[in-house]
Amino acid sequence: MRLGILGYPVGHSLSPAMHRAALAARGIAGSYEPLETPPERLAERIEEVRRGFRGVNVTVPLKERVLPLLDEVVPAARAIGAVNTVVNEGGRLIGHNTDAPGFLRSLEEAGVEGSRALVLGAGGAARAVVYALTRAGWEVAVWNRTRARAERLVAELGGRLASPEEAREVDLLVNATSVGLGDPSATPLPAECFPPRGYAVDLVYKPLRTRFLREAEERGLVAVDGLGMLLWQGAIAFELWSGEAAPISAMRSALHAAITGGDSHPSRE
Ligand code: NAP
Repeated sequence: MRLGILGYPVGHSLSPAMHRAALAARGIAGSYEPLETPPERLAERIEEVRRGFRGVNVTVPLKERVLPLLDEVVPAARAIGAVNTVVNEGGRLIGHNTDAPGFLRSLEEAGVEGSRALVLGAGGAARAVVYALTRAGWEVAVWNRTRARAERLVAELGGRLASPEEAREVDLLVNATSVGLGDPSATPLPAECFPPRGYAVDLVYKPLRTRFLREAEERGLVAVDGLGMLLWQGAIAFELWSGEAAPISAMRSALHAAITGGDSHPSRE
């Protein structure tokens, strides 16, 4: 089963480690290749996928650009406007978005409960999160640096516009911006704005303990890092390609090893 990930750049992706571990754990002969793909080469790459791959993941900056090149895009991915998983069904390429259900699975796993959420950001990740939360019955407020982008998001996907001050009133805060990525001193929300209790989820997972999560914990919130979403979006993609249950424990261990740079360790599951 030949698999891969299209992105630009793609060298630092954790997906190859996670999916190679999944293939090995299920005893499936196959490969998962990082396929560096500049945007202007995407159409050509998609034809390679059609000829020789069972499927691929798609990451920055290609998740939106890939839609017109596919034969079918499932309704959720179409609504979100981003495809992160392509399945090749006998030469027909079908686009899915596993970020949205992956995000919900990560909340479930972390025991997140409540009814009101504030999502920071309005990019591709925020769109998947707002799609998932609104459909799961949450009341969703959205704040983004560029207001017009947030306006478009809520008009298309639901939820309402909010100010950062409204963070005090919610049960769940989600950082779906890239603030904090590679910078442990940056945070998308001043700590004074945090609610007195509830949950804070950061989609950024490099570093794993962001300032946003550290400050949330200091204020008494439960902090949930972005590896859960990464794991579950990958697990759902693996199930779409292989038709088999994803080996969660092996995938989680491989992700932890890849992010800490250490050896894969046996999970407690
Ligand atoms: P994107 O489409 O480029 O969107 C970036 C978002 O961050 C926009 O809302 C942007 O606001 C905001 N932003 C960037 N710099 C900012 C700043 N200095 N101050 C305030 N806001 C700022 O990116 P994306 O694909 O949505 O990804 C967002 C983050 O989620 C990335 O860190 C990515 O790694 C992470 N992610 C994680 C997972 C996971 O599985 N854990 C999955 C997907 C994405 P403007 O609109 O104002 O520019």
